[in-house]
Amino acid sequence: MSLENEFAEYLKKPLSNASASEIYEAMVDLVKARSAALPKIRSNKKVYYISAEFLVGKQLGKNLINLGIYDEMNRLLSANGIRMEDIEKEEKEPSLGNGGLGRLAACFLDSIATLDLEGDGVGLNYHFGLFKQQFRDRKQYEVPDEWLSGKNMLRDTGVHFEVSLAGKTYESRMYDLDVIGYHGNRNTLHLFDLDTVDESIVHDGIAFDKTDIAKNLTLFLYPDDSDKNGQLLRIYQQYFMVANAAQLILKEEKEKGHDIRHLDRYVAIQINDTHPSLIIPELMRLLINEGITLKHAADIVSNVCAYTNHTILAEALEKWPLSYLMQVVPQLIPIIEGLDYAAYCAFNGNPDLAIIDDQNRVHMAKMDMHFSHSINGVAALHTEILKHQELKPFYNVYASKFNNKTNGITFRRFLMHSNPELSDYIDHLIGEGWKSDANHLEELLRYYNDENVLDHLVEIKYHNKQRAARLIKEREGIEVDPNSIFDVQIKRMHEYKRQQMNALWVIYKYLMIKRGQKPMTPITVIFGGKAAPAYTMAKNIIHLILCLQELINNDPDVAPWLKVVMLTNYNVHKAEAVVPACDISEQISLASKEASGTGNMKFMLNGAVTLGTADGANVEIRNLVGMDNIYIFGKTSDEVIGLYNSHGYHSADFYYRSASIHEIVDFLTGPELSAIGDVNMLGELRENLINKDWFMTLLDIESYCAVKETALYDYENRAWWKRKSLVNTAKAGFFSSDRTIREYNWDIWNLK
Ligand SMILES: *Cc1c(COP(=O)(O)O)cnc(C)c1O
Repeated sequence: MSLENEFAEYLKKPLSNASASEIYEAMVDLVKARSAALPKIRSNKKVYYISAEFLVGKQLGKNLINLGIYDEMNRLLSANGIRMEDIEKEEKEPSLGNGGLGRLAACFLDSIATLDLEGDGVGLNYHFGLFKQQFRDRKQYEVPDEWLSGKNMLRDTGVHFEVSLAGKTYESRMYDLDVIGYHGNRNTLHLFDLDTVDESIVHDGIAFDKTDIAKNLTLFLYPDDSDKNGQLLRIYQQYFMVANAAQLILKEEKEKGHDIRHLDRYVAIQINDTHPSLIIPELMRLLINEGITLKHAADIVSNVCAYTNHTILAEALEKWPLSYLMQVVPQLIPIIEGLDYAAYCAFNGNPDLAIIDDQNRVHMAKMDMHFSHSINGVAALHTEILKHQELKPFYNVYASKFNNKTNGITFRRFLMHSNPELSDYIDHLIGEGWKSDANHLEELLRYYNDENVLDHLVEIKYHNKQRAARLIKEREGIEVDPNSIFDVQIKRMHEYKRQQMNALWVIYKYLMIKRGQKPMTPITVIFGGKAAPAYTMAKNIIHLILCLQELINNDPDVAPWLKVVMLTNYNVHKAEAVVPACDISEQISLASKEASGTGNMKFMLNGAVTLGTADGANVEIRNLVGMDNIYIFGKTSDEVIGLYNSHGYHSADFYYRSASIHEIVDFLTGPELSAIGDVNMLGELRENLINKDWFMTLLDIESYCAVKETALYDYENRAWWKRKSLVNTAKAGFFSSDRTIREYNWDIWNLK
């Protein structure tokens, strides 16, 4: 049957009479039916990617692409005067992730399927996700993100498992999301839930009774853990996730007729950060229940499991009080204690290597490192820091377990779907080979001196800026000029990512313009990102940005030259709209603190030039594009680590020594912002910058302002800038998540 006829059967009325939501719903039915008919991938060995987050983004467009019917569907709509964009708007973005770690998991599932490897994701079906961000009085408020209402791609499988939490038995339910590979086959993302979860217990934003596990277990991702009940809830969630994963794995293995004594021949498990770490003792527990000895179970599980570290921030390395684990998962305590004892015996009681510390806290990452066969960082620099600084005691005894897997992104979403005009033009220039082997993008360098091609790329960028400007007008009510320079920093709000440094630059530029030093081309500074609900300083930074937005956009002396936009509720959809429009990609974390970053890769692929520190994957971007095609500033990670070790950084020195730093920092509590904002929040921010500044904003700010000035100056040399842009796209092939997944498979999973 033709696609058109098949679609007509779902729509049940002529396209010309159908509303956008009717068309959307019919398309979901069509996609679900088409994908159910695809063969499931089978290999000799299967990987399970367990993760607290899967930031999958909207499914419709990407699934149409991977089913190979996007263009045909698009033509069908166009012939009836309907825009695909308007249909895609009907879909609510799944709220199953927080930031880069969750987006990485989603890109990996896409690549695993595309490479025809058998691999499923396992996670939780959060009803309200992280939260939906709103701004009122220039402050962030959190409300539930009700993404499950309305039609979506989830399937209720009817599969149940029993999970024991604090001695009580709960019955889970498994929902599946199809993961369609680019070549027409599929894997699955399994999302577990409890039928008893009660959305009506949420009140006053995102508050709820943290003790009522039957009703609250899967309401939110990362519920507030600033008190004991919040921490217990996190443990409940983590155990619920892995207990379901472990049962699913053993069920599938038994159905395949495999002997679980040789589980390591058939199964690989990737532990994405420490949230799924309890899979180790839980899987051991189930194997022991089948009659396998503790020692043998530990060997099997170590050969199956591999651990990915995503951060060196101490607060992100989970340590649970043993007493909390005793309360929630008493069944695991003998095993965790057994593992701790085994590590104690193996390393003569070395406290650096102990799983349970002298305060009776269980270090999840340490359990992972002892009882998995692979430990990887997510960019070359990050892995080196793990080996020689953060995890040095473990590297000393397990050197061969350590390996690097530089992150990647799926070009199907972040080029083909989000920037179709560029994607089509690349096809026209070099053919479609880059879609299966991204290194082919280097063939674009043939056009380095072809003015027609370069000008066409500039025109595509301009169209993307018009499109982003429309979204900004529609969603934020702010008029921005597509002829201005789009300077973009979109990512979670965190002091280490240093949005505050960019905001201080905005003040610096505002003051320059006020003094008559206008930029040659107007600049639009775009921010976007959520702050964790309990993270005061991140909320203060949002407040500052929103106050600057108000001040600057309404100042007739300044607004023609400088605009500030804070996007509300940053998510994958907004990333897809803004990334293709970016000229300058802000990747300005304090060196050593951003493990990899993946936003940096999306921007580069879409022809933006990076302004960044020598941190995370920025280092690898620099090595690929060369110093002429990137702007690097600030202290190196070695210098920063040296300052931490020697306690040698005092922000006050910088504040008092430099008149210009003094001036921009004091602006936070000056009359202009005090008239608009909350003086306590802005005062706290200023105070923190002067007296604490844990992430060393004032250390790098002068170098940042100077190098940003150079970038803005170079932008005026259009002939040069368009070549920089071309080189960035051409060199981005390395950052395809297909490459990353090939490496995981060769070095860690060994599927097929
Ligand atoms: C890519 C992405 C991120 C990660 O961005 P970084 O700049 O690497 O922190 C976070 N959120 C969303 C929605 C993304 O698409």
